[in-house]
Amino acid sequence: MKTEIIFVDNDVDEEESYAQAVEILLSGEVVAFPTETVYGLGADATNAEAVGRIFEAKGRPADNPLIVHVDSKETALEYVQEVSAKALQCMDAFWPGALTLIMQERPGAFAKNVTAGLETVGIRVPNHPVALSLLRKLQLPLAAPSANTSGKPSPTLAEHVYHDMEGRIPLILDGGATEIGIESTVLDTTCEPPVILRPGKVSKEQIERVIGTVRTSSGNKNNVPKSPGMKYMHYAPTAPLYLIENEEGLIEKAIDYIQEKGKTVAVLSKTEYPAADFNFPLSMESLYASLRKCDSTDADLILASVEPGLQENDALMNRLEKAADHKWFS
Ligand code: AMP
Ligand code: MG
Repeated sequence: MKTEIIFVDNDVDEEESYAQAVEILLSGEVVAFPTETVYGLGADATNAEAVGRIFEAKGRPADNPLIVHVDSKETALEYVQEVSAKALQCMDAFWPGALTLIMQERPGAFAKNVTAGLETVGIRVPNHPVALSLLRKLQLPLAAPSANTSGKPSPTLAEHVYHDMEGRIPLILDGGATEIGIESTVLDTTCEPPVILRPGKVSKEQIERVIGTVRTSSGNKNNVPKSPGMKYMHYAPTAPLYLIENEEGLIEKAIDYIQEKGKTVAVLSKTEYPAADFNFPLSMESLYASLRKCDSTDADLILASVEPGLQENDALMNRLEKAADHKWFS
């Protein structure tokens, strides 16, 4: 299969491009598109065969449910039941935006493989002109996980999608770099108090200002996770990644130590380390692009500098710990 990339300017409504994407989606194929978080790999959420193609293209385990994207709160409410008052308040406060709400699915609303057999479903309204235009023209809900090979860093540029999906999907809509750079916050609203299953740009504090106390899930490796996706290795570059505390020359010492063993090292950090073989920026927006850049170097090992204060950034730390499989350099 040939993979076509078409540019859709964020401000211009390019009818022909959207018509092509809609036609492909209606025929049961998948299309990659930009959202404000990361690029998504979309398929008609009511068509099991189409949804199956997402799992196939990504190599995603079938027990990891997909998030459904819709164009509005009103559309979302057609597909769910027993929606809590807090879920409704979150929709009003954060949609369109980077918050996915887990709710009770209306039986049969989506193809069974979307929810991996669960009775609940994760839904959000993306805040991106291309994603919203596509959803409005399609008039169907789109199941859309991140458009990367399962386990690899999520795509923040169309070229990242092309790298992973070339020959596997027919079309990528290119809307430039994604603004936020990491996936949505996932909030389970089927329990009381609601639980953050995955941290993201929308913070616990922002949510609590709207609906009061929420809990955070102990995404501990040994627990059976409530969010099935949390048990898998994620976001990992090819070379082993280690987290390292940025204090008292520790990073310089680590670089020396690694290079003395005849190995090359890439450092992800806010500041450059002249002694390192490769340096790449570290922030929410740049994390995935930097991890992918490491893959295009011959670095034997990657260090991610955890600066004082970074530990408080739940979302970035969550992705870093998963990408490093919780390894710290010592
Ligand atoms: P991704 O599609 O790669 O952004 O991942 C979606 C995340 O949402 C995964 O961690 C899933 O396990 C989680 N998720 C999706 N649907 C549900 C659900 N019904 N209940 C709990 N977690 C969910
Ligand atoms: Mg993903």
